[in-house]
Amino acid sequence: MQNKKRSDSYSNLRIKDDFDCNAYIGKVKWSPAKSIWITTMFSIAVIGSILTFSIEAVLVLLISTAITLCFGHSLGMHRRLIHQSYQCPKWLEYVFVHLGVLVGLAGPRGMMLTHDMRDWAQRQTQCHDYFGHQQSMLIDGFWQLHCDIELESPPIFIPENSFSEDKVYYWMEKIGMWQQLPWAILLFFIGGVSWVIWGICVRVVVSVIGHWLIGYFAHNKGHKSWYVEGASIQGYNIKFASLITMGESWHNNHHAFPGSARLGIEKGQYDPGWWVLKTLEKMQLVWDIRLPEDLPVRNELVKY
Ligand SMILES: [Zn+2]
Ligand SMILES: [Zn+2]
Repeated sequence: MQNKKRSDSYSNLRIKDDFDCNAYIGKVKWSPAKSIWITTMFSIAVIGSILTFSIEAVLVLLISTAITLCFGHSLGMHRRLIHQSYQCPKWLEYVFVHLGVLVGLAGPRGMMLTHDMRDWAQRQTQCHDYFGHQQSMLIDGFWQLHCDIELESPPIFIPENSFSEDKVYYWMEKIGMWQQLPWAILLFFIGGVSWVIWGICVRVVVSVIGHWLIGYFAHNKGHKSWYVEGASIQGYNIKFASLITMGESWHNNHHAFPGSARLGIEKGQYDPGWWVLKTLEKMQLVWDIRLPEDLPVRNELVKY
């Protein structure tokens, strides 16, 4: 199949491709850093959570997971840093993105790169199973949690100058997962070892494995309202996960309107990230919120 390139106006500007690039020929390779990180956290979480279980510790897990997923991953990394779907003061963006790093997936540049490459690949007429979560759960789980893909002819990733010249993001990327340390120390002084295990290790494991699971289902099973013509991979809406993912599981909507700050766009689609964003807007901490109707019209978008 011809690997036709899409040059529609909404395409991510950080990925530069040409006709020599392709999204399907490549090798999935074991990533020591990724694999050792999640295996270590997983081992500590499993053993530690049994030894230090308490209702208090579970509350620490729930509260810290909700804060990092909502303010960090969804509002900070995804809706602001990657898609710039709303405006906010720079200090608030830094706080949100730092909370997003705490989720345990990657630093700001790593998150942008992984997201944009997957986005680009899924929009091609053909892409590697790694990008589309097209293998069995067992293989996909191993790939996404322990490996990276190396394309034979990849496109180039060029972040905007405002990001690449930003010293705060430079250090956030460099320090990476060590950003968990001050929070671990704080949790230790307040609640002891148990709070560190539940507030850091169990939280990271739940978030990283949860992120993969949602990614797997959001590209394989669920409801579709929109079809993106020419794209090899379509997104699916997963209703039951809308609250726990802070609205991120409305992935069919996201494939249709990547630049929209609101993910649950239809009636009855719960989107906690959106509710928080509207509250922040009322507090005048957030403005210029973009919605589907503010985005350029996409000719390849078909409503079911
Ligand atoms: Zn997707
Ligand atoms: Zn996105």
